[in-house]
Amino acid sequence: VKNTTVPNLDDSMNNTEEDEVEVVDLAANSLLNKLIRQSLVESSHRVEVLQKDPSSPLYSVKTFEELRLKEELLKGIYAMGFNRPSKIQEMALPMMLAHPPQNLIAQSQSGTGKTAAFVLAMLSRIDASKPFLQCLCLAPTYELALQTGRVVEQMGKFCVDVRVLYAIRGNPIPRRADVTQQIIIGTPGTILDWYFKRKLIDLSKICVFVLDEADVMIATQGFSDQSIRIQRVLPSECQMLLFSATFEDSVWQFAGRIIPDPNVIKLRKEELTLNNIRQYYVLCESRKDKYQALCNIYGGITIGQAIIFCQTRRNAKWLTVEMMQDGHQVSLLSGELTVDQRASIIQRFRDGKEKVLITTNVCARGIDVKQITIVVNFDLPVNQSEEPDYETYLHRIGRTGRFGKKGLAFNMIEVNKLPLLLKIQEHFNSSIKQLNPEDMDEIE
Ligand code: ADP
Repeated sequence: VKNTTVPNLDDSMNNTEEDEVEVVDLAANSLLNKLIRQSLVESSHRVEVLQKDPSSPLYSVKTFEELRLKEELLKGIYAMGFNRPSKIQEMALPMMLAHPPQNLIAQSQSGTGKTAAFVLAMLSRIDASKPFLQCLCLAPTYELALQTGRVVEQMGKFCVDVRVLYAIRGNPIPRRADVTQQIIIGTPGTILDWYFKRKLIDLSKICVFVLDEADVMIATQGFSDQSIRIQRVLPSECQMLLFSATFEDSVWQFAGRIIPDPNVIKLRKEELTLNNIRQYYVLCESRKDKYQALCNIYGGITIGQAIIFCQTRRNAKWLTVEMMQDGHQVSLLSGELTVDQRASIIQRFRDGKEKVLITTNVCARGIDVKQITIVVNFDLPVNQSEEPDYETYLHRIGRTGRFGKKGLAFNMIEVNKLPLLLKIQEHFNSSIKQLNPEDMDEIE
């Protein structure tokens, strides 16, 4: 594991790719979130519901018992340690399990219980005694499909005879006669291939269709159209469910095309604020100087754990090497690592095995670093036109008001970047105090 955290010192530092700002890979981030998630993400917002038929009564459940699930399924839920439905599940489950089945579009940030909800719906509708496909779930990548499959296996632990078929590139292709599973999970391309080209799977008895991670799906070239082609061949009485962590117009339009007559459920995301964060900046001459300031800060206060953001891969590598050479225990998280490697680095960091995590923007979004009290911007986040990237600044440093702890943020600023900092200050209407790195007493 150790060598995944050490950068390759021989790497050419002349590579122009190194200077590129890393692009966030939505599917990878989503997978990473799943790999490192330990519990439900809380929300203080109410769930908003838009019913297809506003005059029909709206049910919500406070317990899993109220859902009248098969006993083996209830056992599976409790074995996973779920005591009660999550916020989104309270509203979504009664709709998903209703008779006749209802279609649903649900949006809430990752970690709020969507996967568990649709896995429950699939498992409760399956007739395990029947050896043919009954549920179809589309996922954006191989790894995300496997993750969903794992949830099926966990929750369905006591449902004997329920089995999952994975339609993902690289998987052995079954013979038609061997397809006796009830659930198929796969990427749109492979499902299409298996259905149209190879005629391997029968989709005529599918009663639940799930499109997961719709926002990631539509960001992938070709997946929207492929998903719609698949949806078109499903039986008209098939229940259709779509999930997304975010809901831009593009997701909404796609959802409208693929899910007929839906109910819509939304859970707003907790807003990030800088209110509980004390922000400082240190004026520096050069990169070396920034590093020195960082060391002073590091030596001057008792730091629990810190996360340090750099704008480019090259800077992140450089800093990692410097800190290691000075005997600090740091690890580097960057986009060139596989998701598994990244997950293991984050896990080690969470377990306290490393004190400092250095990263580029790949880590700024989606990855939950709630427990970290100190965030350092070794470089300020800027967009392509060299203007401050306010959103990224907020994501790196902000915490949610109700659940977030207090935190400290340090910005290392080269003199010519000072105007950017002032803009950030103005934008958020919050003060960022100058700090003399020689005198840490200024920090309480
Ligand atoms: P999403 O699909 O929205 O990202 P998940 O269904 O993966 O959310 O749930 C996030 C985490 O919370 C998972 O670790 C899952 O096992 C757990 N979880 C889901 N529902 C519940 C629940 N009702 N009670 C406790 N934990 C839950």
